[in-house]
Amino acid sequence: MTVDNIKTDILILGSGGAGLFAALHALKANPDLNVTVASKGLLGKCGCTRMVQGGYNVAINPGDSIERHFMDTIEGGKWLPHQELAWTLVSTAVERVRELENEIGCFFDRNPDGTLHGKAFAGQSFDRTVHKGDLTGIEIINRLMEQVWARPVRRLEEHRAVALIPAKDGALAGALMIDIRSGQFRFVTAQAVLLATGGGPTMYRYHTPSGDKSMDGLAMALGLGLPLRDMEMVQFHPTGLLAGPDTRMTGTVLEEGLRGAGGHLLNGAMHRFMADYDPKLERATRDVVSRAIYAEMKAGRTTPNGGAYIKMSHLGPAKVAKEFKGMVDRCRDCGFDLAGGLVEVVPTAHYFMGGVICDRDTETECQGLFVAGEDASGMHGANRLGGNGVANSTVFGGIAGDVMPHWIANNPGHRPPDPEALDFEAARAEHPFSRQPGDLNALREKLLDTMWDDVGVVRDRAGIERGLAAIDSIETELLTAGVADRDRRFNLTWHDWLNLRSLCEISRVIALAAMRRENSRGAHYRSDFPEPGDLATSTFTVARQKAGRIEMTDAPVLFTHVKPGETLLRDPIAAE
Ligand SMILES: Cc1cc2nc3c(=O)[nH]c(=O)nc-3n(C[C@H](O)[C@H](O)[C@H](O)COP(=O)(O)OP(=O)(O)OC[C@H]3O[C@@H](n4cnc5c(N)ncnc54)[C@H](O)[C@@H]3O)c2cc1C
Repeated sequence: MTVDNIKTDILILGSGGAGLFAALHALKANPDLNVTVASKGLLGKCGCTRMVQGGYNVAINPGDSIERHFMDTIEGGKWLPHQELAWTLVSTAVERVRELENEIGCFFDRNPDGTLHGKAFAGQSFDRTVHKGDLTGIEIINRLMEQVWARPVRRLEEHRAVALIPAKDGALAGALMIDIRSGQFRFVTAQAVLLATGGGPTMYRYHTPSGDKSMDGLAMALGLGLPLRDMEMVQFHPTGLLAGPDTRMTGTVLEEGLRGAGGHLLNGAMHRFMADYDPKLERATRDVVSRAIYAEMKAGRTTPNGGAYIKMSHLGPAKVAKEFKGMVDRCRDCGFDLAGGLVEVVPTAHYFMGGVICDRDTETECQGLFVAGEDASGMHGANRLGGNGVANSTVFGGIAGDVMPHWIANNPGHRPPDPEALDFEAARAEHPFSRQPGDLNALREKLLDTMWDDVGVVRDRAGIERGLAAIDSIETELLTAGVADRDRRFNLTWHDWLNLRSLCEISRVIALAAMRRENSRGAHYRSDFPEPGDLATSTFTVARQKAGRIEMTDAPVLFTHVKPGETLLRDPIAAE
């Protein structure tokens, strides 16, 4: 095994909203720096930022305020968010949206008076989700991509990071990558590295994120010994398309704006069931609606494919077709009439609130390593508001881009990698070539079912124990399974194997964190501990790998801006 070497000043892992914003800001802060963006897919074509449908939360219109957006974020996160991170998110989103329009070149939909149109998203007290129709991410990522292409950014496309490699002193030296096209190992030495690989809970039977996402970033951070928080917090989006078992379209999301605009959810008996669960009906938060659909499924009141229906036709098919063109087209492609008929939906794993612990400047515990976007944690607590995801990645990606050049100025120089760590990680990545071929697809299917059944929308101790045992056995089998084709060039089975390993490693942490939290908050619901617990003494879970074992601890949430029971809103009626 040989390893090529590349040297850069800033290495950005991932080319979603976080990675691309970081590249632009870093070059703006210091145009003399050599910036490299490495991505598992093609620049502008991969990751979830491109898939953003609904839009971007920002308190920009009259009647709204940063405080209101903040309170929605904290209350939606069930008082678990890191309040400094949440405040940075909501306050910086304002300048980031202006930057997107005025510097990056995005056009968002506008009201007749020229102000930005904000659509209704569930769980928010103001219609603040700015958007480009219902395919907002394509606008954002295309414009970002054009800006990055116009600058001297080195692009390592179809390059997969497999490990973060420390120097002997523990600071980060760089990342070990595989050039997917040639199969060659490549070590990229950098003065600063941004982890922005975008989380993505694709270990569930039904899931929404792009196929290139397999929790690699969090698996690499775990391997480096970094602390991860809120790992039990997997957000299920209530309305994943249910198009039957034989299509990968099953699980893809039908956006929140459908419920925001007045869509109804019906069970298999055509009963509008949300009234049985929450007075906010379909506009309740994602966790509540997902659990309601799941309860209907468990009670057997399902549609032919085992889910629920979404119905929009009462709003007027022409209006629905105009306002939700992307969704209507997507459903039509799969043979369903969203504007005028019924479409089957199921809760689908959508977003991962857990991730690497960082501070407001995106710095992590490891010197030289920064984190932004869905790989980072703390901004959302127990629940991410729809529209806060892309705001999070662009806000903190930009901050990372601002901060890394300064960090480099104060800590100059490349650090040589610890040769033992580099050899160890290369050997680990090559592991499947030393084994007889195995049935990776069967293992993947087992993992999807395990996580959906035992560590999914509703959890309890017995289920989590079952899940942990199954994850152990899947991982053990995986380590005995090799890949048939020894050619490393574009060997997608090798990458499936590596995906599955990352997914197993992070699935275990999700299960352990779910076991640790003996209460129910937001996305995490324990049927054996259904109460939320005392908000004033809220804690968050912390997972860390030590000597090959996962250690779980809790840490107190600091209420630095607002305490449970209080509000930052002056008008208590408006706070409702
Ligand atoms: C269908 C869908 C709809 C959504 N709609 C909304 C919405 O309306 N509003 C909202 O706020 N949020 C939405 N989200 C969430 C939002 O997309 C994400 O929170 C956000 O875009 C994440 O940005 P990111 O930069 O962290 O990651 P991503 O945009 O996912 O980018 C991750 C990047 O990392 C790369 N990568 C992954 N692994 C590796 C590796 N090992 N080595 C190198 N590179 C790697 C990927 O190829 C990709 O380039 C939606 C998500 C989905 C899936």
